[in-house]
Amino acid sequence: MPQRRKVYEGKAKVLFEGPEPGTLVQHFKDDATAYNNQKKGIITGKGVINNRISEHLMLQLSRAGIPTHFLRRLNMREQLVKQVEIIPIEVIVRNVAAGSICKRLGLEEGSELPRSIVEYCYKSDELNDPLISEDHITAFSWATPQEIDEMFTMSLRINDFLTGLFIGVNLKLVDFKIEFGRHYQDDLVRVILADEITPDSCRLWDTITNEKLDKDRFRRDLGGVEEAYQEVARRLGITPESANQENESTIKLR
Ligand code: UDP
Repeated sequence: MPQRRKVYEGKAKVLFEGPEPGTLVQHFKDDATAYNNQKKGIITGKGVINNRISEHLMLQLSRAGIPTHFLRRLNMREQLVKQVEIIPIEVIVRNVAAGSICKRLGLEEGSELPRSIVEYCYKSDELNDPLISEDHITAFSWATPQEIDEMFTMSLRINDFLTGLFIGVNLKLVDFKIEFGRHYQDDLVRVILADEITPDSCRLWDTITNEKLDKDRFRRDLGGVEEAYQEVARRLGITPESANQENESTIKLR
């Protein structure tokens, strides 16, 4: 493989310089971490599945009018994306109580929330991604009030769209985390959806049985982690066979 410059290495992905200016190659690893790196492991084949799932969801969202960083899938583990300046905020959207909100507010896991709730966390491993308010974001200039508005509105639209998409395949979108970036083009700067949307960053439960089909299987040692990710891909209509055919994105972006 030709030498490529690594731009960034995270817990589950590596970013390399892309073939054209303004692009990056996003490489999905099999590494899994939880509880801010305290638990580490490998989920065999996760990178391959997540590359496909994120491609699929980003393409569907962009068809629905959400601007995303996704350009095209390059191979089994890699996709070409637009280079953005990541806004250091994790936007979490919740529909059903699970994970940290249960501890924080004393809620029972699985209880319906009165309405969808948007939360912001500051992206910092050292600080354990603390929950913050809009006022922190503007006071520390992590994003402008207009950018917060755009992230908030887009996050709820993404939630509505993905909730419907997942219900169609018998999955409940319990919650998810997304990240946004500033995309600079000519004299324009635009906030677009970046990073990934995969079972690493979403909670997905079977609508009938409430079986968990996401990273909680790894976090809680429930077993069958790879199988759960494969099941999500299968339900979304992503099959290993179609991975060998001409890739979805090339067809759609032509
Ligand atoms: N999440 C994530 N990365 C993080 C923190 C959370 O992808 O660094 C996702 C997580 O998978 C879940 C949602 O965001 O779908 C809400 O996570 P929560 O705040 O409940 O934290 P957790 O219980 O996952 O630590």
